[in-house]
Amino acid sequence: MNVKDNAKFPKVVIIGGGFGGLQVAAKLKDKPVDVLMLDKHNYHTFQPLLYQVATGSLEAESIGFSLRKNFSSQKNFRFQIAEVSKVNPENNTIETTIGEVAYDYLVIATGSTTNFFGNKEIEKFALPMKSVPEALNLRYRILQSLEQATLLPNKDDREPYLSFVLVGAGPTGVELAGALAEIRNNILHKDYPELKKEDMKVYLVDFLPKVLGPMSDEASKGATRFLKDMGVEVMLGVKVDSYDGEEIKFEGGKSIRTKNVIWSAGVMGVIPDGVNKDLIVRGNKIKVDANCRIEGSENIFAIGDVAAMITDDTPKGHPGVAQVAIQQGKYVGETILQTLNGEANTPFKYNDKGSLATIGRNKAVADLGKIKFQGFFAWLIWMFVHLISLLGFRNKIIVFVNWIASYISFNGGSRLIIKRFEKDDAPKNKNELKDKV
Ligand SMILES: Cc1cc2nc3c(=O)[nH]c(=O)nc-3n(C[C@H](O)[C@H](O)[C@H](O)COP(=O)(O)OP(=O)(O)OC[C@H]3O[C@@H](n4cnc5c(N)ncnc54)[C@H](O)[C@@H]3O)c2cc1C
Repeated sequence: MNVKDNAKFPKVVIIGGGFGGLQVAAKLKDKPVDVLMLDKHNYHTFQPLLYQVATGSLEAESIGFSLRKNFSSQKNFRFQIAEVSKVNPENNTIETTIGEVAYDYLVIATGSTTNFFGNKEIEKFALPMKSVPEALNLRYRILQSLEQATLLPNKDDREPYLSFVLVGAGPTGVELAGALAEIRNNILHKDYPELKKEDMKVYLVDFLPKVLGPMSDEASKGATRFLKDMGVEVMLGVKVDSYDGEEIKFEGGKSIRTKNVIWSAGVMGVIPDGVNKDLIVRGNKIKVDANCRIEGSENIFAIGDVAAMITDDTPKGHPGVAQVAIQQGKYVGETILQTLNGEANTPFKYNDKGSLATIGRNKAVADLGKIKFQGFFAWLIWMFVHLISLLGFRNKIIVFVNWIASYISFNGGSRLIIKRFEKDDAPKNKNELKDKV
């Protein structure tokens, strides 16, 4: 393995440069440890804005940030692109695409991926949105569906291309539904004069009886009202039965003809092999103790979306949000330093700073402790929080300028199809359209 080994200091290996992994590394800056971060991508992804990449209002580069660049001033930090497949706790090594790597301390910060709950058919045809490549794929799919609809003179034939079904009414589903409704309301008639606004349908489906399940009733009701005002059909208490790429069927008999099903109904932790199966709990998460250590291990930690800290206060673990990963990342960095100094570790305590979700222009919902509000002010706070949380000054400026331009013009984003949708065997002419997506 072509990595400089600094044998002088204890070696901390961090798997994943997401919200959690970044904080562990930053906390160890200028400390007597050798930090190696491994990630299958060479960039950090700001997942909360993926939906804007998917709907063409932001470019992918503006929500990613090079991990090497981010730590270029940190002398005890090294980075390698590598996918980690296995942990060998018995000899303190991991197996990766660049070979075997030894560690003194290991932090598993691999996040989560889309959970299709074992339904292979839905997994084959529905589109997930957990990474930049997936968001770009979704963008190409949305734009190609609109392009293909323009080739079809018959409303009935156009219907599957113009129906967008979002399964899962959590923040991702709500934000995507709002963004698609804004395309329908503000952009469709400008970019696609061949199409009618009324023909494009956006459905938001969940088997739970409310949108934004983890947020307050006020937030949920506010978001539902905003979505309905924007023309989104909100279908709650409805369970998906099947999807074959042509028609989504729901339990109870209802169905929608659609080529565009976007799946955000669940996530599951990404766990390398080698972790004791008895420690894997609901949501495919690794059970950790109050110090974020994998139970039974002295030197392996798990944080963020992949970890479940089950206590009396958190019987289901912590929510899968960036703040948990950030706070656990800082905490684990500190805990490793305390351990090296022979100091006692205090238990992790999550400080819930509240939740925000945006639905569209001037429309957001905020639960900040006991203070709950919806509308323009919540939307301003949502924008501010996301801007300051983005990595990189350049990204902050680009995103800010994009948002201002969109606000003024009602027509933001470039909406280019740079690369065709991957699963697509796109037809070359109208006659082939009927059989192909
Ligand atoms: C669309 C979307 C919108 C969201 N919106 C919000 C929001 O508004 N507010 C909020 O608080 N939270 C939001 N979240 C949740 C939030 O992004 C996650 O909780 C957070 O990213 C978890 O951080 P993490 O460090 O655990 O994992 P991640 O940030 O997911 O990072 C995991 C990293 O590990 C790498 N990795 C994975 N497996 C391997 C492997 N085997 N080998 C090497 N590298 C690997 C990945 O490439 C990735 O860089 C959203 C999530 C999504 C998907």
